Amino acid sequence: MTQGKFSTRSIWAGEKDQLAFGATQVPVVHSVSFGYEDMDEWYEVATGKKKGHIYGRNTNPTVEAFEDKIKNLEGGEAATSFSTGMAAISNTLTTFLTPGDRIVSIKDTYGGTNKIFTEFLPKMNVDVELCETANHEVLEAEVEKGCKILYLETPTNPTVKITDIERMAKVGKANGAIVIVDNTFATPVNQNPLDLGVDLVIHSATKFLGGHADALGGALVGSRELVEQVYHYREINGATLDPMSAYLLLRGMKTLKLRIDQQNKNAHDIAEYLKTFDIVEDVFYPGLEEHVNYDIAKKQMHGFGGMLSFSVKGGVETVREFIPALQFANKAANLGAVETIVGPSRTTSHVECTPEERAAMGIPEGLIRYSAGIEDIEDLKADLKQAFEKVEQKVSPKS
Ligand SMILES: *Cc1c(COP(=O)(O)O)cnc(C)c1O
Repeated sequence: MTQGKFSTRSIWAGEKDQLAFGATQVPVVHSVSFGYEDMDEWYEVATGKKKGHIYGRNTNPTVEAFEDKIKNLEGGEAATSFSTGMAAISNTLTTFLTPGDRIVSIKDTYGGTNKIFTEFLPKMNVDVELCETANHEVLEAEVEKGCKILYLETPTNPTVKITDIERMAKVGKANGAIVIVDNTFATPVNQNPLDLGVDLVIHSATKFLGGHADALGGALVGSRELVEQVYHYREINGATLDPMSAYLLLRGMKTLKLRIDQQNKNAHDIAEYLKTFDIVEDVFYPGLEEHVNYDIAKKQMHGFGGMLSFSVKGGVETVREFIPALQFANKAANLGAVETIVGPSRTTSHVECTPEERAAMGIPEGLIRYSAGIEDIEDLKADLKQAFEKVEQKVSPKS
């Protein structure tokens, strides 16, 4: 395993094993199958006795480099990859759950994950218990009733709530559950769930790991015993990461620390800056001392992340004017890219919910999600200021 500090490993991990022809960069191997003249060698590779590749749905050299890199950065024993983050989540859950099992999770998981919990798992006769996010006492009580999986995501979408990973891993382990954390928002730069005692870490590599919004992918990291079971499910069911996407994600990950450090800083500055505007009602960022879960965030995160959200007075009316007025922001549903990305929660993460459901989840109609990019902070601030000024000219928000 490649040694060194995080930025060194993010450059070198997984790379050297896959180089060919003296190339200094991992090749994109667009080959569906891998052929053998020697029948004994073919047999050895096919039965896993010798390292090598057989068929692209199972393994591929470029994809393997991506898996080695994320395994190294999360500090796990093994890793496998998927076509998307949702494939990572659904394949992992389906590998371990059988009819009659019970899973405990939180209400604020990613929209797609929430759909698996509310629409698809019940069809498999899996009992799903979704607790109030970050209500640790309730989560503990539900885990103690017994469950196959404890599934967490922290920080969450869109109000960036924080769950105490170490505390939850402890109760999960004590009750025989497999503890899984979706680490997409934090990335291994800001948070290391395996060190805090969880069994498996999941990523939508589409977001911060790739960082350039040009490739979809997912990853799972943890013990060899658990990851191999999920790999087996994935190789048969076919949600394989494409070699070109693996290459783009690999390239993105080389700058992960540089990008995340900058995004942490930008998001924190923006959160503080937003508080100075009268039109802003509430700002949600785990790095703000007034955030409900600030103490837990401070304890378990090395940085508070690039994601924040805020609500504006005047609700939907204000949002409609404000977002298009921003110059340095993509108005889109994704997050975690080098560009700043802004969107209303009612259109992005929680578009499937009714206004009443969103209200029940503590998501005001005027909530805006802000994924801080790596632009110059002065430009981002000036952009927000001019957009707020434009809004104030057009609508006179009721307080
Ligand atoms: C985007 C996202 C996912 C799903 O990932 P895809 O690559 O879009 O399938 C899962 N979890 C979180 C926290 C996400 O932000």
